[in-house]
Amino acid sequence: TEQTLVLIKPDGVARGLIGEIITRIERKGLKIAALKQVIVSEEIAVQHYAEHRERPFFGSLIEFITSGPVVAIVLDGERAIAAFRQIAGGTDPVEKAVPGSIRGDFALETQYNLVHGSDSPESAKREIALWFPDFTL
Ligand code: ATP
Repeated sequence: TEQTLVLIKPDGVARGLIGEIITRIERKGLKIAALKQVIVSEEIAVQHYAEHRERPFFGSLIEFITSGPVVAIVLDGERAIAAFRQIAGGTDPVEKAVPGSIRGDFALETQYNLVHGSDSPESAKREIALWFPDFTL
């Protein structure tokens, strides 16, 4: 099986959507291999989003992701990376995420799109090591 790193971002936690999002993950058949709620340091946030450091929204993204607790999750399952991105929906919750997806059903703005999911096996490996340094399956 494959592992992926998922974050329920501060907007998801603040809006009381942890249960809703975890229900959808479990209903899909993905297994929770690790889970914790954390306040994100600027250092972890910058490392997590390192690939976006030249983008115009980087500063606001770091401010947002450190603005309140997030729930970090390692999911395990067949094609877990693609499976989570399918149930999350596209990055822009109105133009790309379809109804029935987490973002399509519950989000309006691209920055406040509730969840993060690793986009490749390489990012999953890097992100799991960043958020769960002691993780082993
Ligand atoms: P994530 O990496 O969080 O799963 P993603 O892969 O769908 O999201 P990316 O393009 O990697 O999207 O962007 C990372 C995050 O940066 C987005 O989830 C969103 O919160 C924020 N973001 C992306 N594009 C914009 C934008 N144009 N304006 C504001 N925030 C943005």
